[in-house]
Amino acid sequence: MDVVWTDLHRRQNPKMEINLGQPIPTYERPDRAETIRQQLETDERFNFVGLTEHGRSPIEAVHALGLIDYLESAWPEIHRTTGRHEFAPEAMLHVGLREGMSAARPPEGAAAAFGYWCYETATPLVEGTYIASRASVDVALTAAEKILAGAPSAYGLCRPPGHHAAANVFGGFCYFNNAAIAAHHVASTTGTKVTVLDVDYHHGNGTQQIFYERDDVQFVSLHGDPKRAYPWFIGHEDEVGAGKGRGYNINVAFGPEAEDDEYVTRLAGVCEQIAAFGPSMVIVSLGVDTYWNDPISDLALTTDGYRRCGEVVKQLGIPTLILQEGGYDIEAIGRNVHAWISPFASSVLQWQ
Ligand SMILES: [Zn+2]
Repeated sequence: MDVVWTDLHRRQNPKMEINLGQPIPTYERPDRAETIRQQLETDERFNFVGLTEHGRSPIEAVHALGLIDYLESAWPEIHRTTGRHEFAPEAMLHVGLREGMSAARPPEGAAAAFGYWCYETATPLVEGTYIASRASVDVALTAAEKILAGAPSAYGLCRPPGHHAAANVFGGFCYFNNAAIAAHHVASTTGTKVTVLDVDYHHGNGTQQIFYERDDVQFVSLHGDPKRAYPWFIGHEDEVGAGKGRGYNINVAFGPEAEDDEYVTRLAGVCEQIAAFGPSMVIVSLGVDTYWNDPISDLALTTDGYRRCGEVVKQLGIPTLILQEGGYDIEAIGRNVHAWISPFASSVLQWQ
């Protein structure tokens, strides 16, 4: 099974985030990806390959041009005007700020404009953010093309993650939505249906927003209930899609401390809905921050639970692209990702 990897993720190396009003060491660190790589390298079933560059156009098909331009160009001005080596927004555009008035315009200065394009405080810019984010998209697209070329599965070790980035706004450690860009690329170039199955602890709000009115991309998310969990304002079970997308957005919200048996049972339930939809490809937004010891989440899955999850999804018998999202217990992230994707690696051996 191919694992798409790039060293360029290391260019995204912020030191801090603002968490509950306090600066703390960021959870989204380069050693997350390095630990996953080291774990997978111990298993000869995984074949590491580099990325292929795809340019801006697959990103422009999903994200606002202004957001892409901002991420591409903002850093030199921010660094010059603030002297900082990383930067987070001060004021963010709230829906109530201009209620009853015309839409807001982005401020002219890059530092102030941060709050126009970003909705929260844990997603700073550093010098290498754009390079790493572009590379993360290319990792996802390169892995997608392995499947379009005939592989039954592939894993893209994306970093930074992507599923919190919506069409017009980024946040949640995410800049470009890797899974959504890959899903749109596959759906639009093949004319087939695609499912994005998001199993990160946090609701994939960006992916939901991007596909909310579409009937060719089904979005299924299992996550901590937004009543108590980030991203707070989106991810409720009564959000089912709109327009022709109605019925193609499925949210499954868990209470705290949910364990393997409940999770696997509900995952198997949504897999029946995926099978009924009939996609040509399942794209898994794989977060292992549902782990019992994850520092920012409150579910209680185990490493063996992840193996069971992978087996359930593999049993769909649909080509499966697995892309890395969250997971912040760095001591455990490698073996948890390995457990989840291992059932797919075994299928490659059977085919040979
Ligand atoms: Zn997460």
